[in-house]
Order: sequence, then structure tokens, then C-alpha cells
Amino acid sequence: MSGMILVKGLPVSTGIVIGRALVIDDDRRRVTRRTIPRELVNAEVQRLKAAISASIEDILRVHENATREMGHEAAKIFLFHVGMLQDPTLIKQIQGQIEREQVSAEFAVSAVFAALAERFRATGDSVFATKVNDLEDLAHRLNKHLVGAKASPIADAEEGTILLARDLTPSQTAQFDRRRILGFATDLGGATSHTAIIAKALDIPAVVGCKTLLKHARDGMPVVLDGDRGAIILNPDAATVSEYRRFIEQRRLFRVSLNELSDLPPVTTDGTHISILGNIELAEEAAKVVAAGGEGVGLYRTEYLYLTNASEPTEEDHYHAYARCVELCKGKELVIRTVDLGADKYTQAQEEIPERNPFLGNRSIRYCLKNTPMFKRQLRALLRASALGKIKIMFPLVSAISELRQAKFLVREVMEDLSEEGIPFDANLPIGMMVEVPSAAIQAEAFAREVDFFSIGTNDLVQYTLAVDRINERVSHLYTPMHPAVIRLIRDVARVARRHETPLSACGESSSDLEYALLLIGLGLRTLSVSAGSIPQLKRFVRSVSVQQCERVARQVLALDSSDQVARLLRDRARTFVPEAFDGRSAE
Ligand code: PEP
Ligand code: MG
Repeated sequence: MSGMILVKGLPVSTGIVIGRALVIDDDRRRVTRRTIPRELVNAEVQRLKAAISASIEDILRVHENATREMGHEAAKIFLFHVGMLQDPTLIKQIQGQIEREQVSAEFAVSAVFAALAERFRATGDSVFATKVNDLEDLAHRLNKHLVGAKASPIADAEEGTILLARDLTPSQTAQFDRRRILGFATDLGGATSHTAIIAKALDIPAVVGCKTLLKHARDGMPVVLDGDRGAIILNPDAATVSEYRRFIEQRRLFRVSLNELSDLPPVTTDGTHISILGNIELAEEAAKVVAAGGEGVGLYRTEYLYLTNASEPTEEDHYHAYARCVELCKGKELVIRTVDLGADKYTQAQEEIPERNPFLGNRSIRYCLKNTPMFKRQLRALLRASALGKIKIMFPLVSAISELRQAKFLVREVMEDLSEEGIPFDANLPIGMMVEVPSAAIQAEAFAREVDFFSIGTNDLVQYTLAVDRINERVSHLYTPMHPAVIRLIRDVARVARRHETPLSACGESSSDLEYALLLIGLGLRTLSVSAGSIPQLKRFVRSVSVQQCERVARQVLALDSSDQVARLLRDRARTFVPEAFDGRSAE
């Protein structure tokens, strides 16, 4: 067995676990070689043929759609795909490899397509070179049909498993069996990817953006996953394991000390109340928020109803989830955000033609306004649930006033329908919006006249202000809420909100970062919404600073020009105000 290997990544969900590795490598270009017994070779060839037919059917559907959307000429590429899959020489080659080498159809498909792509590349001919992508796409499509029938290895994970994957989707993560999966780490992904958010919501220690994990990891290897520092230790030696066991015990004691705060109010040392709310992805989590001392739910990401369900949720599915949430909130604040599907929160694979720039594409409120029957089903359920208790609704990713007006118009339409049907709802339910696109922040004044509240979403505001993809580990060093441009936008929105008396909160991941919370309070924020696990620590922090101190720091920050300077200043100040709130190890 090789020696101890340390791999660093981005810490996205705290906690330290020790377990055994299960490696999930679904790299479309690299399929593990799997041999099969001789008597199953024929069945494997049949599996290949079935996958080819299913893929051809798929592509013909895509072709039909593409012809409609893009015209005959552009859609022709899909006929090339069909032609390839009907090419007897190619099929014979794949079949030949299965029979000769007794390997799985997936492996033969990947090997034959990879060799062909290599030959195309080697021609140096630009026409052939452009077809390499098509070949990769075809291999991926075939393998999707081949693998689709098998259970995912994640579902069969044994107790004490630490998943090490190239990437995981938010829905894969949401379906983890927590009794068996202790934590996970991925080579791809950024700190505010939705996979990371789900990890935090489910309290699964996680590290993303590790880049080289799969190069070193093997199934069954002992692993330490340190979600506090973003470290994965493969094959740890005995001294490392015992040191980590000590850390685990220290953390447990720290958590116990935080829990003692749960009944105390989140009030600063100069007497200002800072509302601490919780972000949730699943209705049941509302209970965790309340138990952690949260004053309600500041962001319920309802798109997870779609991501965890096999089929599209019905109005009743929505209604039951919201009714349950109202019940669990016990009269406390509850902000339900309408579905924010799209980008990484919608498997682009489900789209017949995936978008080129999904984060700039048909997502969130745009997606809802294009799919009004779906949107209205959710609105009906929300309004019906508003008869059961206090609910506020919030629209995501609003970037233009016309979107807000259309969305509000649909709410009114649904209200009229319900009134006609004699179904009760709260006619005065507050309607707010996320401020997470620079256009909305810049135009906050206009929006303030038409909404009942704002919530700043720094996760998206950072990516759109800085033109840095929030899930791309290659640019993760540029992704930071400490950027002066982001801070100025937040300051401006806070000023507008104060002038218009529009309630304002911040619900991005950075609100749970104590240094950043210090800045947000200094900029005028009085409501912060964070994952349930971060509530006790944030409360402890709030109870240790004064608004005056925060305002002074915010003024100093606003005079700085670079993210690094901002980060340094905030770290220093936060540490001097409340050294005890910082875990000694995270200072490294
Ligand atoms: C945000 O963008 O900051 C936010 C809270 O929304 P989400 O993370 O769901 O995109
Ligand atoms: Mg967002």
C-alpha cells in the first residue's frame, strides 16, 4: 500500500470524519475496465445493441427539435450522430472488443470511441477535429443508456464510507444515506456550488475542488476527511489518525458549548437585535433551524422538491411540503423562495440541447416565467399554505423590473382563481425578491417601490459581479465576496433599503462567515440567514460585538481597493473582537 497522501481542496461543510474511500469516477472519457464472465458476453452484446437503439431514438428526437429551433442545416449534425451509430464497422469494432477481451460494453464503447477521436485529432484536419466533441458526446450518450440500468455504487455504499468523486450533482448529494456516507470530496466544484450547499444543509463534512483526488484515491483506502480545513488524507498513518480523533473530540465539546446559547437572544453588546434565520433545502430542516435557535427560515430553496423527486412535483406535493414547513416553524418567520431551477440546479443532461452558458441562461425566475403552468402550480400551493400560517414569498434571480411585474401578475391571477374557488389564502402575503444580479442591485431604488422585502444573495451576486463561475474550481481563487465591487453593491442596496424602509436580509453562504457577518452588520444589515449548523456560532459572534465596532470596520473596508486587503482586515478585526469564536486550528 502506498504511503500517506495529503490532498487540499475548498472546505465547504465542516466536520472531520475517518472512514474508507468509495471512488466514483464518472469521467465521461475514463471508464474503468470491467471484465465479464464468458457466459455473459452475449448478454453484454445485446446490452450494447439495446443502448445503440435507445440512443438513436434519443438523437432522432433531438434532431426533430433542433430542426424546429435551429433549422435544417444546423440540425444536420444529429444525422451525423445517427449515421455513426448505424455504421456497421463501428458497431463491429465495439462488439469485437467485448467478445475478444471479455470486457463490459461501457468499457468497449469508451475505448473504441477514444481511439477514433484520437485518429480524428491526428489528421490535423480542422473538419475532423471539430468532430472529436461529437464522438465524446456519442460515447457519453451510449454509456448513459448502458449505465442507466445499473444501480449507482453510491446506493450500495457500505457503512463508514467517504465518497471521493470527480463531481457530484446536487440531487445525488441530497439522496445520500447519512447512516452510511460519512462525508465526501470532489475534484471539481466551487465553494458555493449547490452540491456544497446541500452538504452543509445535511451536515455532511465536504471538501470540493480538490483537482487531484482521483489520481491518488483507490476504493477501500482509509481516509481522513477534514471539512474544517479542506484536507483529505489518504492512507493516514497511526499518529495522524489519533491526532484527528483528538480534534473530533474537541469539536464535539465546542458544539456542546455553543448549544448552551440556544435560548439567549442574538443581541450585540450595544443592544441591537440581529435576526438570525436559517436557510433550508428540505421542509423538514425547518425543525433543525428552530432547534438551533434560529428565528425562522429566511430562505427555503424549493427547487430541491424537483431535484429529489423522480417526477415533477404536483400542486399537492408542493402544498404538503409548505404546510409541513409552516407547522415546523411554529409561527416564526418563513420565507419561501419560488423555484430556482436551472444552471447547476437542473441536470442539463435532462435538456435535449444543453445550454452553452447555463448560469447566464434559462434559469430561476426566467425559467418559471417561460413555464407558467408549472410556476402557477407552485404559486397555488404557496398561497393555499399561506392560510395555515405566516409565509412570505420571494422570487430568485430577478434581473429586470418587467420580470418582477410579470411574476407578481401571476400571483394576482392565482389569487383570483383561488378566490373564485372559495379557497382561503393570505391576501396580504409579503412578496420580495433576491438581490443577486448586479442589475437588480444597481436598480434597487426602482425595485424597492414594488417589493415588500429584499434578500441579498451573495453566492450569485459574487459570480455575476466578478464574472467568475461559482462552481468552477479553476477560477475559485477569483471567487470572493471580499471584492470591493461586491461590497459597494451591498452598501448601496443597504442604503436604498434604509431609505425606503424595505426589510433587508442577506442569505448567501458568506453570511455565516464571521468576518463577513461583521462587515454586513457594519453595512447596515440586521437580518442574516445561514445554514442551521452555522446559527449557534453566528449568534455567539453577534453577542460579542457592538454595531459601532462593526460600522467602524465597514468604513475602513470601504476605503480599501483589493479583496486581499479586505480579507486581511476583516480577519484581523474579527479575531481581535472575539478570539474565542475562532477555532484555534482555522487560524492556520
Ligand atoms: C445566493 O445566490 O446567494 C443564494 C442564496 O441563492 P442560491 O445559492 O440558491 O443560488
Ligand atoms: Mg442564487
